[in-house]
Formats: sequence, structure tokens, C-alpha cells
Amino acid sequence: MQHPQLVTAFSEPILARDRLLTAFRHRIENVPSRGSSFFIHLSELCPVACEHCMYSSDLERKSDKTALSKRELEGAIRFISESESQKLNITGGGEPFLKLSSILRLLETVEVPRIEIVTAGHWAMTPKRTARIMGQLDAARSRNPGNPELMLRLSIDRYHLNAPRPVRIDYYGNVLRCWAETGPGFSVGLRSIQPDMGIADRMIADEVGAVVQKVDDWNRLLVLPDGKTVPVTFNVFRRSGKALNLTEDHKGATKTLREYYGPFETKPGNLSLATAVNDAIRGEYAASTGLAVTLNSDGTFWIFCGTAPDRKLLLGKQSFAEAVAYFFEDPITHLLVDEGVWALSDLIMDLAPKTHAAALAKNDSASLVDDLLGPDDVRFAVTLTAAHDLVVRGRATVDPEHSLAGILSDPAADLAAMCRDVILERGSTP
Ligand code: SF4
Repeated sequence: MQHPQLVTAFSEPILARDRLLTAFRHRIENVPSRGSSFFIHLSELCPVACEHCMYSSDLERKSDKTALSKRELEGAIRFISESESQKLNITGGGEPFLKLSSILRLLETVEVPRIEIVTAGHWAMTPKRTARIMGQLDAARSRNPGNPELMLRLSIDRYHLNAPRPVRIDYYGNVLRCWAETGPGFSVGLRSIQPDMGIADRMIADEVGAVVQKVDDWNRLLVLPDGKTVPVTFNVFRRSGKALNLTEDHKGATKTLREYYGPFETKPGNLSLATAVNDAIRGEYAASTGLAVTLNSDGTFWIFCGTAPDRKLLLGKQSFAEAVAYFFEDPITHLLVDEGVWALSDLIMDLAPKTHAAALAKNDSASLVDDLLGPDDVRFAVTLTAAHDLVVRGRATVDPEHSLAGILSDPAADLAAMCRDVILERGSTP
């Protein structure tokens, strides 16, 4: 028989989750106090408009706010520096070079030891323009008193080469030739997709007269004629965003997320991307004691693979420590940080198999947590299950007046099974 108070709570799962979060108190003193990888999206727009873009990016605005204002960027720089992140990734959402002045401002001021900029390289249309922009990057980085290590990473694959506004192979050549000739104080690298391994790397090698060397299953090295080396890393093919409309799905030519991230699990089945330092180009997702944070171009931010979709915050309202404290008021964040994304995935597979299958089919770590936790009743069920686990292990308490305090502190209660039965009965989640 179903627990009557549980059935009542599931009738309004958003309200019930709010009430549970208000009643929940964790007892963990050493929540992370610093950042690991910090991802900043400078623009949601992109002139290239690839047909596989996971962000469905092009020059059409999808939201009211496509980029941070000048004042917000200064706030973001203070926030990133305050986070003491180990690495800043200027990336995603769209093409960061549409906001070149913001890139330069970040490079000259932000206090992090390492910075990586991911770009399509559409700006490298001529050798002259390429040299000017790369000179600006180098000069901005050298003005930074912290002397951060910098890598410029270009994305190259069949979709970039054949996009509505393509990045031509000679644009990539312009960057590599300029880098080899001028020797700036930063490194360059390339990223691609696994189905294009042996294709994209060969094309660019032919363009610049380089030799391709294999490093491991997803990394190659281009050895330029003067002996300088350029790493090439191949990521999984993601079937999210615009790629959902593609006829080819590259199944078999790409690893699944689980296969790809297997070597980076801290123990079998535990992949905490919420705390990792993303260093794919060095073949690493190193565990850290900090938090990975994504700051989007609309000013919202969250723990990467560590925050439920309804707990994102808006920049400018709190310090880094206050934001972390807010995120850790949610049992879901504890689950994702302590046990990782596969623990959440396994739970959803049991609770809502179709939601689980649709989320995994995208093969995209950036959308995985939001998709798994999309349905309101599933999100509430995971909150309950994670809270129960923490309470019975003595790592949290729930106010005794809360209507579900009894089952949440009952070690014999199988919360996941109880929630699954209610969700099945309600039949609301696909
Ligand atoms: S260049 Fe990058 S951001 Fe732009 S459309 Fe292509 S994949 Fe998306």
C-alpha cells in the first residue's frame, strides 16, 4: 500500500520539493570552498551555424539576453577570481570571439592559473587578421600579473568545414602557421569528434605539412615541420541541439558517454563531473576538491553536472561561498558531488525509464542532468531519495514537523521503490 502522505506530496511535486528543501539541513562542514573548472559562455550567438551544434547556435537570438554586459563581465571576473578555480574555460553557448573585447578583458585580469579558449576559428580568414587577433590575445595574457598559462583550442570537424558559413581548412592553417612563426606565449590545440578521427586531423596535417602521431584512443599529436607539436583531442559525438535533426547519428563511430568517461571514474561507477578539472586535451578529467561551475551568457550559473535545473542562480546577487551554500541546500547536489552522474542516472533508470533513455540518447554531459531531472515528479523523487540517504547516514536532518520526516528517517524505508510506485500510478512522467 502506498504511503498516503507521499501520494499527497506527489500531487504537487514542485511545492513538495520546495517544502522539503526548506526542512532539509545537511551536517557536512567541509563543503567545497573553491572552484575546479570554471566555464564561461560569452555569447549564445555564432556565425558558423553548424548543423550538429549542441547549443543550436547561429545568429538568431534564442533569449532576451545573448551576452553579459560590460558591468556584468566585471562582476563575472571578480566572481571567477574569488572562486580560486584551477582553470577557466572560455567556451560554449556560441562563438566567444564575437565578444573579443570580453576575452581580452578576461585574459588580462582574471586570477586563475590556466585558461583555455575554445573557438571555431572563423575569425582567422586571412593571415593578416589572424596575426592581429593572436597578437591581441598574447598581449592581453602578458598584461595579467598572474601570468596564466593559455591554450587556444579550435574545433575542427566535417560540420564546421561544411557549415552555412564554413570554417575553411586554410583558416585553421592560418592559426597554426601564425602560431608556429610568431611563437606567442600560449599554446594551440584542436578538438574534434570521434567519427572524424583520421579525417579532420589528416586534413589539417596536409594543410600545414604536419605529421600525425597517435597518443591514445582519443588523442593525436600534429608534429609541425619545425618540430612544434599541437594536440588534437576527439570527443564523443553528441546528439543534442541541432544534431537531433541530423539523419546520420554516428552510432558505432563514437563512444557512449559512459565508455568515454570510464577512465575518469574516481571509483567504479563514480563519475563526479561536478568536481572535475576538465582537461580533455591532456586526456584527463582530474578529480579535485573544488567545484566545476558554468556561467551562461544570460548571467545564470550552476555547478556543472551538480545542480538541479530549478536551482540555477543569477550572477551578482551572492558571493561564491553563498552560492555554494545555496546549492548544497539541495540533497540532489550532494548526490551528484558525492556519488556522481551515474548514480543519478541509475536512479532515474529505475524511476522513469523513458526519461532515462531519452536523456542518455543525447550522449551529451552538458544536458544530461537537466534532462534526467526535467520532470517535476522525478526531481522530487530524487530529492526524497537523496535526502533519505543522507538522513539515515547521519549526514543531514529534516525538521520533525515535515509531513515526510518519519519515512525520511526510517532506515528500512525503500524511498526509491516507494516513489517509483507513486510515479507509475500517477502515470504523468513519460
Ligand atoms: S562553431 Fe561551435 S558554437 Fe558555432 S555553431 Fe558550430 S558547434 Fe555551435
